[in-house]
Amino acid sequence: MPFDDVLAAYDPALGLEVHVELNTASKMFCGCPAVFGGEPNAGTCPTCLGLPGAMPVVNGKAVESAIRIGLALNCDIAEWCRFARKNYFYPDMPKNFQTSQYDEPICFDGYMDVDVDGETYRVEIERAHMEEDTGKSLHVGGSTGRIHGADHSLVDYNRAGIPLIEIVTRPILGAGEKAPEVAKAYVAQLRELIVALGVSEARMDQGNLRADVNLSLSPKGSGTLGTRTETKNVNSFRSVERAVRYEMQRHAVILSGGGSILQETRHWHEDTGITTSGREKSDAEDYRYFPEPDLVPVAPSREWVDELRGTLPENPTVRRARLQADWGFSDMEMRDTIGAGALGLVEETIAEGAAPQAARKWWLGELARRSNEDGVDIVDLPITPADVARIQALVDEKVVNDKLARQVFEGVLAGEGTPDEVVEKRGLAVVSDDGALGAAVDNAIAANPDVADKIRDGKVAAAGALIGAVMKEMRGQADAGRVRELILEKLS
Ligand SMILES: [Zn+2]
Repeated sequence: MPFDDVLAAYDPALGLEVHVELNTASKMFCGCPAVFGGEPNAGTCPTCLGLPGAMPVVNGKAVESAIRIGLALNCDIAEWCRFARKNYFYPDMPKNFQTSQYDEPICFDGYMDVDVDGETYRVEIERAHMEEDTGKSLHVGGSTGRIHGADHSLVDYNRAGIPLIEIVTRPILGAGEKAPEVAKAYVAQLRELIVALGVSEARMDQGNLRADVNLSLSPKGSGTLGTRTETKNVNSFRSVERAVRYEMQRHAVILSGGGSILQETRHWHEDTGITTSGREKSDAEDYRYFPEPDLVPVAPSREWVDELRGTLPENPTVRRARLQADWGFSDMEMRDTIGAGALGLVEETIAEGAAPQAARKWWLGELARRSNEDGVDIVDLPITPADVARIQALVDEKVVNDKLARQVFEGVLAGEGTPDEVVEKRGLAVVSDDGALGAAVDNAIAANPDVADKIRDGKVAAAGALIGAVMKEMRGQADAGRVRELILEKLS
């Protein structure tokens, strides 16, 4: 169904649940390293393996990070709250319950203002609560890596117990046609905030930040909420936008055909851009939540909360206005930079020494193009702001020109090394040595006698054709300014 037809008949309601994996040194309830990877199950102990009698202890740093996230999202911070057991069986969860928070989240009633195309949408935050991650299953013997067709499964509990903060929005209404963009911008802006707080690596491609996208449609103007689906673990900004758009269209087709939406979780498929049915969504009652008896309540003092408030990064709206003024960007340039999810990248590139317009040019030109082509979020491209600043420095130092710089980008993105190494390995440095250039200039003059005559007659503008011939002979690797000077010297 065309997207416009969806909007003519239905109002979308969005909801986002984002899990943030904290970068604490140890896990949420034990002293094991909070590092996923390495030798499977090496980073475990009786507590995170759920062995009988093992007692959990809350990680103070994780509580601090949770409070700072909550404050940055304009939330109230609970004076007293508890953990709860969320009971369900899953092989990667050795206790048979996840220690989470239920009706007493540490942070609640906040908001974040999200900018989309120059308009601001207020996204209300219902809660941000603390919980622990699960282990990871590996299904062996099948062709797809999925459980179907596998011979057996292995479980790595290194990730079990790594602290997570789950941030849940209230239904986002009134976004209309902008719903997919609002969802994407919310996640992108939330990530920017998490990075500024320094509480997580926040890499979506590494699973440090994972978004579940809730969507429902209701008949236009009805003011009701329809049945929602929850698309799990969408792992890039771009996929968040695509998943919302896809689900809006899928719901609309079913509803307009007289069908009804099944409340369920769905899986997102990056390659095909569709969602497929997961499991029927459990209700809260199914989890038999009850307060965790092995942990004391968390009661952060108001003094501590105030102290943490003082550690918050600059408010995002204030920060954007400041950066725009510092960089001299037009409204349009600023909007495009934010829209591309490149604000932090541009900022870091400038901090590494690039001029603002040069930083913007590369990230929004060459690199935004690559991110679209490869279907990778711009922040996940294998190039750093320091690399980009260095490539611009090579242009400024006339080691390469703009055209060759594009090849340096290609090389860095292909993993060939640092910008300087790529220039070296690919032999990209421009030639400004008069010996090499002089010969090419002589050849160009000999091959274009008419043009040479015009220049001798004072028509200096004609030099462009000879410069072009020299560049062609030297495969673009000539210092164009020096070539011009040589041509004029020889023909004066
Ligand atoms: Zn442990």
